[in-house]
Amino acid sequence: MTLAELFRHRDRFIGCIAIGRVPRRRPGERVRVGRHEAVLDEADCAAFEEIADALLYRAGETFSIVAQGYDYPSLARCPALADDGRCAIHLHGKPLTCEVVPLDPLVPDRLQHLVLAERSQSAVYVGSACIQEGPRADATLLVDEGCIADVKAQAALTRRRRALEQERAVWAQAVFDALRADLFDSPAALARIPAGGFLTISLVPALLTVAAASTLCRTLCIDYVDSQLALIERSIAQALTRRRLDDRPVTQQLRGFANAYRHARTRLVEAANVEADRDAFPSRPEVEAYLASPAGNPAH
Ligand code: SF4
Repeated sequence: MTLAELFRHRDRFIGCIAIGRVPRRRPGERVRVGRHEAVLDEADCAAFEEIADALLYRAGETFSIVAQGYDYPSLARCPALADDGRCAIHLHGKPLTCEVVPLDPLVPDRLQHLVLAERSQSAVYVGSACIQEGPRADATLLVDEGCIADVKAQAALTRRRRALEQERAVWAQAVFDALRADLFDSPAALARIPAGGFLTISLVPALLTVAAASTLCRTLCIDYVDSQLALIERSIAQALTRRRLDDRPVTQQLRGFANAYRHARTRLVEAANVEADRDAFPSRPEVEAYLASPAGNPAH
């Protein structure tokens, strides 16, 4: 999700920052999914590099830094999934990342067929039969001959990539720079990023970045923190009634998020401190527009 989407749905999703490694692709590398196989050529790798230059972060290795919803895995459902199986926010700001599914904005268009092949074999999709090979009379063709054939899917992919670029400009590059010494340049700290997974940290570094943009942004961040503290409290209370062992580490992390929010709130309401911060950050009206935009989506 984008930070602005988290702001919009502040009473539904607990926000966090997710940091992951993105492997660098080399010409000649074989990518095999089931009976599908591709040997990456120079053009494939150049396309990966172009995406990395625009959307990812480099510190020796390459990393993704995104805002994300956080919840108890034991619930095994999105907080926006209604009891009738539909998305409760489909018409009211459904996240761009959901519109892109099942494509992957970090993979070049010419290789999206491999993304589909991989997803069709993953546990989440097995049995759903929602990804099938070949043209069908009752379904729109999604990818064809290394191109995105469905114009709506192509437009969604473009919007999601633009949104990730905007995330970088508004907060993620600043967070990457702030965490550089303690995380990205520290092999011991990088070991905390699980293989193939994400390190999830508090959203506070992103909030402090956007809060420094203007007085309005600071007020929006304080409102956001208040909503998140209430949501975290409700979420933990429900978890305690479930009495599941595997919920405990998640509860622990949520308590950590709440502590970080309380400290950030104190900092944000101390006007003198914030004014001092603003000296270091020039006023950024585009951040106000971003946080206040209805869907938090970039213009398209
Ligand atoms: S589309 Fe699905 S995953 Fe996305 S917000 Fe709606 S219910 Fe959640």
